[in-house]
Amino acid sequence: MTKIKYDCAKCPGYCCSYDHIEASDYDIGRLARHFQVNDAEARKRYFKVVKSEGKDITVLRHKKDHVYATTCMFFDQDERRCTVYAARPRVCRTYPNGNRCGYFEFIQFEREHQDDQEFIPSA
Ligand code: SF4
Ligand code: SF4
Repeated sequence: MTKIKYDCAKCPGYCCSYDHIEASDYDIGRLARHFQVNDAEARKRYFKVVKSEGKDITVLRHKKDHVYATTCMFFDQDERRCTVYAARPRVCRTYPNGNRCGYFEFIQFEREHQDDQEFIPSA
């Protein structure tokens, strides 16, 4: 098995700040079951429809954050972790699609150069 070269526990959760974290109907249904609401209610509470390259896509709603401008509404902004981990959308399960994460390598590089293991580059 390929060794994972990033550590989300040492990252403030940059990927959860992406504007467009897309969800399928299946993802919406999974979150609806998690919160014991119907799919229509889940769609309204947790998602919004935005335009991307001329197409309508369904994405997770956001809230303001103190590290990045905003994060996904399900991100715990103090603990810097997902609060719906077992029910998170597929895109969150597969990211960063390999054993490396570009953002993690960037913060590691900066932390070494700044000699500060807590350093977070400003957004
Ligand atoms: S940006 Fe990379 S290291 Fe940070 S939480 Fe996401 S996958 Fe993990
Ligand atoms: S559902 Fe969880 S893993 Fe996915 S973006 Fe939101 S907080 Fe991050």
